[in-house]
Amino acid sequence: MDITDKTERLELYKDRNTQAFLSKFLSGEIGELLPVYDPKTGYHYPVVEAILGDSSEANAFLNKLYDAGVLNRKLYDKVVYCPKCSSASISIRYCCTYCKSFDVQRSALIEHVKCGYMDVEENFRKGDKLVCPKCHEELKKMDVDYRRAGTWCTCNDCGKSFDIPVTGHFCRDCNSIFTFEDAVITDVYSYSLKEEAREEAAIGWVAMAPIREFLAENGFEVESPAFLKGKSGANHMFDIAARKGKTPQKVTVIDLAMAGEGVSEQPVIALFAKIFDVAPGTAYLIAIPKMSENGKKMAELYKIKIIEAENSREAIRKLEEELLQK
Ligand SMILES: [Zn+2]
Ligand SMILES: [Zn+2]
Ligand SMILES: [Zn+2]
Repeated sequence: MDITDKTERLELYKDRNTQAFLSKFLSGEIGELLPVYDPKTGYHYPVVEAILGDSSEANAFLNKLYDAGVLNRKLYDKVVYCPKCSSASISIRYCCTYCKSFDVQRSALIEHVKCGYMDVEENFRKGDKLVCPKCHEELKKMDVDYRRAGTWCTCNDCGKSFDIPVTGHFCRDCNSIFTFEDAVITDVYSYSLKEEAREEAAIGWVAMAPIREFLAENGFEVESPAFLKGKSGANHMFDIAARKGKTPQKVTVIDLAMAGEGVSEQPVIALFAKIFDVAPGTAYLIAIPKMSENGKKMAELYKIKIIEAENSREAIRKLEEELLQK
């Protein structure tokens, strides 16, 4: 798995919209996200739009999650849009190969098995019976007396006949007619959550929830994710900020990082850059399941407390020792 993709995903999991969206997969509310069709504007993802509060951002939001490897996608449909006015209200026209008129009559071709005569169905019609125009015998049973031999088109404008019409498009909104070459065609996907993303997301912020709760139960005022303003005036995001009392210097900031093979020094450096500006009382980095040696050395240098834990329960136990001894 690509490391930059993983970093990108971990960033995405911190986003509230992403959390709200992915929690629908994690809770089982959505197995697969299917687009919903609107005859005027084409496909939509109402679930996503409700979360974002803006329908124009839905596709970009889903693309971002797909690019970062959070979502799988499957081709669901293609939508044809008018090249002139972008409407999705498009009808398909089957046109004459000679004069391009769409006033085309489609007929079924019928073959009389016994005499071999073939013609369009209308020429066999005698009232509600089918009678062969050549040998005048009545055709009773399909696949015994006669068989269907495909379709045959006749143009009502130029009178010529052909078997396969050419396809054209008509925009019901601006009345323009356009061909396949000019049509704007968009792929529409259904989405599902990738298995590895399900695990990452579950640890990434589902693990965070019990930690937040623990802090709140112990009289902390908890903000998560928290945006704290630094001396430089910039806002920095921490996974959790917890404070007791009103003194701003006493704020405890917590970031959570995880990596199967051990957390690298990268989150330590990132946390240091933030606490350098924000100057909190204490800074913790919860490393799931463990911290690399390099990371530990750096954390000591930067005065960041490392909590190594297999899961959130162990993290809480260790945080408890740390916080309640004061
Ligand atoms: Zn149009
Ligand atoms: Zn024609
Ligand atoms: Zn016949």
